[in-house]
Amino acid sequence: MEAKALQGGEFLCRKTNSNDVFIPEEFSEEQLMIAQTCNDFLNAEVIQNVNRLDEHEEGLMPQILKKAGEMGLLGVSIPEEYGGFGQNFVTSMLASDVMGAGNAFSVAFSAHSGIGSLPILYYGNEEQKQKYLPRLASGELLGAYCLTEPGAGSDANSGTTKAVLSEDGKHWIINGQKMWITNGGFADVYTVFAKIDNDRVLSAFIVERGFEGISFGAEEHKMGIKGSSTVQVFFNDCKVPVENQLGKRGEGFRIALNILNLGRIKLGANVIGASKRAITVSVMYANERKQFRSLISSFPAIKFKLAEQVIRVFANETTVYRISKNIEDAVEMYISQGLDKGVANVDAQRDFAIEAALIKVYGSEMLDFVVDEGVQIHGGMGFSAETEIETMYRDSRINRIFEGTNEINRMVVSDTMIKKGMKKAIDLLPEAEKVWAEIENLQETPTFSDDYHTRNQQYIENFKKATLLITKLSIEKLGKKIETEQEILFNLADMMMQLYVVESNQLRVEKMDKVIKKHDIDLYKDILDVLMYESSQIIYKAGLDAIFSITEESEQSKFVKALLHYTKVKPVNYINARRNIANKLIEENRYCFSNY
Ligand SMILES: Cc1cc2nc3c(=O)[nH]c(=O)nc-3n(C[C@H](O)[C@H](O)[C@H](O)COP(=O)(O)OP(=O)(O)OC[C@H]3O[C@@H](n4cnc5c(N)ncnc54)[C@H](O)[C@@H]3O)c2cc1C
Repeated sequence: MEAKALQGGEFLCRKTNSNDVFIPEEFSEEQLMIAQTCNDFLNAEVIQNVNRLDEHEEGLMPQILKKAGEMGLLGVSIPEEYGGFGQNFVTSMLASDVMGAGNAFSVAFSAHSGIGSLPILYYGNEEQKQKYLPRLASGELLGAYCLTEPGAGSDANSGTTKAVLSEDGKHWIINGQKMWITNGGFADVYTVFAKIDNDRVLSAFIVERGFEGISFGAEEHKMGIKGSSTVQVFFNDCKVPVENQLGKRGEGFRIALNILNLGRIKLGANVIGASKRAITVSVMYANERKQFRSLISSFPAIKFKLAEQVIRVFANETTVYRISKNIEDAVEMYISQGLDKGVANVDAQRDFAIEAALIKVYGSEMLDFVVDEGVQIHGGMGFSAETEIETMYRDSRINRIFEGTNEINRMVVSDTMIKKGMKKAIDLLPEAEKVWAEIENLQETPTFSDDYHTRNQQYIENFKKATLLITKLSIEKLGKKIETEQEILFNLADMMMQLYVVESNQLRVEKMDKVIKKHDIDLYKDILDVLMYESSQIIYKAGLDAIFSITEESEQSKFVKALLHYTKVKPVNYINARRNIANKLIEENRYCFSNY
């Protein structure tokens, strides 16, 4: 019997088999070719121009974007009938991943091909799609997305930009101000969110640069991604033809949130390319720089850093493609049930909102870690504006802020998970109940199998129990108040995030070993061993924080004992594991742990 597909959030309360996950080692020839094309494009057009872009050379960014359009790279996710490449979800993530190595260009690319184009693809009527999509796919038109306002950031629905119908009923007249608009300085088409009359919720509109009443502020002076255009956009009696309303009245906030789901998972892919490049730059430097008459790459402290960089990037990559394939499968399922392609995409992405938020947080924090250690490996040179790693360090920081700050996204993870559990959409509560009963009779130390993969599966099962236990404890102790106890929501989000990431990697390494039969599997087992150990510690610490904050001292020992039990792993020699990983990287002199 075919196993029921895993639904969003279900990873917490259901087991997954390694055969049921997609891993990067399974990319098709065609997908690898697309990755190569993106890579070639970056090398030819972007990497050599990073400094010119950073100095904001007039017209350079739109020119490179248009070249990407001529090569078909802007329309990877746009269906062929609208002039795009019509690729599936996994392939579009792969393109975002590789393009992520393009610093500020990757932000402009993502804004155009994601939030700048997809609202029209997913919510536009046929006429709107025919009018805009082919030209957005070819780069003839460039896109931007205007949600944020000076007074409405995380609380996006509180915006005050207003739309009223003109007396002749032919135009929406928009007044208001948007800020932090990526590609704003040169885009031709803007998806703009505004409230009609005194509505409580937003509606959406397609606004062209040439419309009467739209104007633009000066370029913002930013910490990083300096090459990307970021401006304020002003609407002063801006006349938008009524046929340019996107979706139904009041549907704007839903559009904004759904597009953000996509933006989040795309960001999770984007940071892979960026971090792999940061690792390559770091190891190349470490393989050249000598101190104490030795290459610094020979020092264990530097090897430790290089290995940690690799482990986290690998972990992120695994997780992104697991989610991407889940979403792709859900899209196909919805289409087979008769849903329109756009609706199917939106619904599938919404189903995996927890995973999208989780990978946005994990990925952005992973990249910050990788570039920070990259600077450290470069020593003083890392602080010099002449090195690539300095730009990467500055460019990385924005990822924790846009597409929903990491604070907001952490709350999306745990809050949505709890709500899904309460609504019985997933079996969270019955599974948590079983753990609750089990902890009464726990043995002092868990026993583990001698078989490598079985043992790792047992760790994952226990991490799930730890997370379920603390989730249930929080619900019991806080009730409805949990929504405002943000520290606890953060503890739960960290446990869920780490669990999902490490489970994805356990499944990947098992599949690589048993199905792909990778000859150098020991290296990947080293990655998994360190990740498993580090995850156990993060899950333990987050759980402990919660227990100490929400229980009385007299009841704490039972929960602490259970948490310790469920986060135990059999230790391996972590120094050797990290050195093996670093030695391979040092030998290859580039990131070499994936097949693309
Ligand atoms: C370079 C750049 C490019 C951008 N591009 C675009 C774009 O193209 N289009 C667009 O529409 N927007 C864009 N943005 C805006 C971006 O999405 C917002 O900056 C972001 O959503 C955060 O909003 P804010 O800056 O108003 O911060 P605020 O919402 O004021 O947040 C400030 C702090 O408070 C925290 N906080 C807020 N609410 C809560 C809460 N309920 N609980 C706990 N903590 C909370 C936040 O996490 C953050 O730490 C861009 C921003 C930048 C900097």
